[in-house]
Amino acid sequence: MVLMVEAPLEFIRPREPKPPWLKVRAPGSANYLRLKDLMRERRLHTVCEEAHCPNIGECWHRGTATFMILGDVCTRACAYCAVAHGRPDAVDLAEPGRVAEAIEAMGLRHAVITSVDRDDLPDGGASIFADTIRQTRARIPGCRIEVLIPDFQGVERSLLTVLDAGPDVLNHNVETVPRLYRMARSGGRYPRSLELLDRSRQHRPEIPTKTGLMVGLGEEIEELVSVFDNLREVGVSILTIGQYLRPSPAHAPMVRYYHPDEFADLKRLALARGFAHVESGPLVRSSYHAHEQADAFDAARR
Ligand code: SF4
Repeated sequence: MVLMVEAPLEFIRPREPKPPWLKVRAPGSANYLRLKDLMRERRLHTVCEEAHCPNIGECWHRGTATFMILGDVCTRACAYCAVAHGRPDAVDLAEPGRVAEAIEAMGLRHAVITSVDRDDLPDGGASIFADTIRQTRARIPGCRIEVLIPDFQGVERSLLTVLDAGPDVLNHNVETVPRLYRMARSGGRYPRSLELLDRSRQHRPEIPTKTGLMVGLGEEIEELVSVFDNLREVGVSILTIGQYLRPSPAHAPMVRYYHPDEFADLKRLALARGFAHVESGPLVRSSYHAHEQADAFDAARR
């Protein structure tokens, strides 16, 4: 079934109980508790916890997590995001080493490293990203490293600092359609995010670029399709699409739940535009099953 712009599928109002496809594994398994201890012991943060990710029970049970470097306080206050915002602490120069140790202790073959926005730092934290990549590479040479980076306020030098450290995947989320940036992501700029993805391909074409979108914030299907086209124009090859879930009543309202069939339709629409890999589903987050996403991308490239 192809989702038609003129005749969108029926949708469910957000006040209705959570639909069954959003039911998740409750956290608490032995592996989950082991990871929780590891993060506390090494004084590390994860976006899994800070962003209240619904997949934490499953991911941590499977031994995967997304490290959030540069502290746990963001200098921006995006309306959809549960991460705390305000004035961050000073940069912890030993953090990259502790992240590398934790990745080794967890035995990861694919590590995802992201950060809060650090607009207070001259390089936006790019040198800490680079150091984390290098230390992880040195400690676990076989581990694939994916970085999910902020826009660095459009500073090209910061992007190049990260790229020159040699990540395996460069991820930067556009998050939503341009019309909703002012409401949802007031500190970001849609053209700036596209420019970052474009520059990455120009500078290091061998590093695949990846991005993610949330749906349910009030976007129209044709706006999403237009974003798909823009992303392909700048060479993005991996796309994730997931349901926006409002972290609290203080956050941007959710306009609607998408049905799993609609996610399947969005995936078809995106694949038809030439993405090498598209992960689309209610619980998909940019780091959800990131290892499998990268494997599928490698297979599609062969
Ligand atoms: S989807 Fe990503 S952020 Fe969410 S729990 Fe899994 S690894 Fe963490």
